[in-house]
Amino acid sequence: TTPDQPAYLRGLNDPQRDAVLTTEGPVLVLAGAGTGKTAALTARLAHLIATRRAWPSEILAVTFTNKAAREMRERVHRIVGDAVEGMPWLGTFHSVAAKMLRRHAELVGLQSNFTILDTDDQLRLLKQLILAADIDEKRWPARQLAGLIDRWKNRGWVPVEIDAAESEAYANGRGAELYAAYQARLKAVNACDFGDLLLHMLTILKTHRDVLEAYQQRFRYIMVDEYQDTNSSQYLWLRLLAQERKNICCVGDDDQSIYSWRGAEVANILRFEHDFLGAKVIRLEQNYRSTPHILAAASQVIANNGQRLGKTLWTALESGEKITVIGVWDGPEEARRVADEIESHRRQGGGYDDIAILVRAQHQTREFEDRFIAIGLPYRIVGGFRFYERAEIRDALAYLRVVHQPADDLAFERIVNTPKRGLGDKAVARIHQLARAQGIPLTLAAARLCDTDELAGAARKSLGRLVGDIARWRDLANNLAHPELCRQILDESGYTAMLQADRSAESAGRLENLTELTRAMEEYDTLGTFLEHVSLVMDNDANDGGAKVTIMTVHAAKGLEFDTVFLVGWEEGLFPSQRALDEGGTKSLEEERRLAYVAITRARRRCVIIHAANRRIYGQWTSSIPSRFVGELPEDHVEAETTMSGGESLWRAQWSERTDPFAHIERGTGRGPGWQRAATLGEPDARAGNGGRVMEVRVSAASFAAKPRSDIAIGQ
Ligand code: ATP
Ligand code: MG
Repeated sequence: TTPDQPAYLRGLNDPQRDAVLTTEGPVLVLAGAGTGKTAALTARLAHLIATRRAWPSEILAVTFTNKAAREMRERVHRIVGDAVEGMPWLGTFHSVAAKMLRRHAELVGLQSNFTILDTDDQLRLLKQLILAADIDEKRWPARQLAGLIDRWKNRGWVPVEIDAAESEAYANGRGAELYAAYQARLKAVNACDFGDLLLHMLTILKTHRDVLEAYQQRFRYIMVDEYQDTNSSQYLWLRLLAQERKNICCVGDDDQSIYSWRGAEVANILRFEHDFLGAKVIRLEQNYRSTPHILAAASQVIANNGQRLGKTLWTALESGEKITVIGVWDGPEEARRVADEIESHRRQGGGYDDIAILVRAQHQTREFEDRFIAIGLPYRIVGGFRFYERAEIRDALAYLRVVHQPADDLAFERIVNTPKRGLGDKAVARIHQLARAQGIPLTLAAARLCDTDELAGAARKSLGRLVGDIARWRDLANNLAHPELCRQILDESGYTAMLQADRSAESAGRLENLTELTRAMEEYDTLGTFLEHVSLVMDNDANDGGAKVTIMTVHAAKGLEFDTVFLVGWEEGLFPSQRALDEGGTKSLEEERRLAYVAITRARRRCVIIHAANRRIYGQWTSSIPSRFVGELPEDHVEAETTMSGGESLWRAQWSERTDPFAHIERGTGRGPGWQRAATLGEPDARAGNGGRVMEVRVSAASFAAKPRSDIAIGQ
């Protein structure tokens, strides 16, 4: 390091500096988590501008999220200041492509003010087309078609490129036809969807040499972060733009490819070296983020994957704490335990902002939110809605409110035509009129309206059904446990069926959320107390700007880092997900393992992994076994602890109703990851407060060395 180097170079190690200074020609930075890939890319951007190799507007830099783009922009600004005019093309693939497409929209038959449709609009449009094509939407849901079209667009395929085999996936071979109709319709309404942003640009670049050449000239330098998660159409787009100057620098980590379900292809890394012959491959091996224990654990877990390019990682940081693995009794205890840990972290001078709780599935946030609200611990949900604000939860709550509180007009309005029951705006307006005229609640007005012949036959029948249902549910509420009532309402109203018909990944998540809702209800004695709890939760303002604990999915945490990270729900069926287990085969399992690797490597100093022995599903206790990824952690780097507490009655109920919840880990038959139970029922638990007992289970450290076995029975 020479002293006259600019500041942005001084902090970098040799290979990082190499990545920054090799400005000409293709460069691929292939390196593990926390090795400073994003840092190097940012320095590179600053370097190009500071040394006037290019004007900012001649640089294209692609990040994976808008937030990452913002951060990079700020960092570059700090480095080069206001000295340079103009802005680089810095953003996600979508945002950059949208900006480009606005300039050339007419070349694909759009106007420059085209609308970008969201998923809802997209589905509505598809439904119309499906109807018009005389296809049974119940059998061939719009969502399924949307998923297919998305896949085709991710691959860069326009309608004429869809072959018969692909087309077969929808309505007996009518996929391509519907795709074409959809594209035509979009054009007619001057709109496009997210996939189109890139696809249209690809079409333009391929068919208009002048446009392509102009961009090839303009972009002297191209840079891409999180390159392992690019899909084919993104790759093709990059390749076209970079083909002339070949000054393209991509940074990525094959072990962190976690979006294959959205069309990402890790093979793009291999393609890069092939398409850009003579590409310089730079490997970064020093990790600056995590302590040796965390790094060792992450490396050991990912080593179980077969499909890897392989890499070395080391750190010069102090060894710090081992990874903590905690086994708890159930979900509520998991949340309690995390909250306790956070509070003690605070007492030791730590801040809320240093902490993240990473979940595998959205529905897992609920238990933590409830706990945190109860004790006033500030939190934020990143990359998703807070649990009780999700659409399906609001819908379900609206049903419950209507049943619980007949005058709740807002709730009635929300559900009157959800799911669709042919009650359009006209019918609803009529109910409103009557309610206003007579000064009565909407539900009552609806009932009275049904007694008249004002509504057309079908609407009247349908409204009559709803009114009748609501009355029946109100009766049921008196002698049915409220979680059961909720399930029944969701089933009988057709709400569950509506989601089931969806067959998309999203709707699966929605159904899980609803299950989680009924689970939450079980914690309250009556429907009234539960609804009261929810309104308090909703009132808890998320935007007061103070420090907060972050709760988010592992997917959303990519590229980020936190001092302390809690990885919760590490159980078979949750992480790895049940879907991955059902699919079988190594492909989806290896993606789950990469996700585990991403999760662990978000931690700077402290990583706590938690698994619960029991989860309550539909009022049934289900014992779960620790994730195989727990079993893959290296014993030398792990501190294991299992303290399970529960009220005595609860405990006894478990014990008598079900088989020994530890049977699967204790049988000593080599089943399970080799867990051993050492101590048993012990002292009364002070925390349980009701004479409950603590059950202590010590896990022998050796158990962690045991490799998962294929004969583990899942979800016993
Ligand atoms: P990921 O794979 O998770 O995206 P990454 O490789 O992009 O990680 P960065 O986020 O760039 O890694 O860097 C990880 C941490 O290491 C950051 O806190 C960054 O500031 C720090 N860091 C990067 N390079 C250096 C360096 N040369 N010296 C000191 N700290 C560094
Ligand atoms: Mg990064």
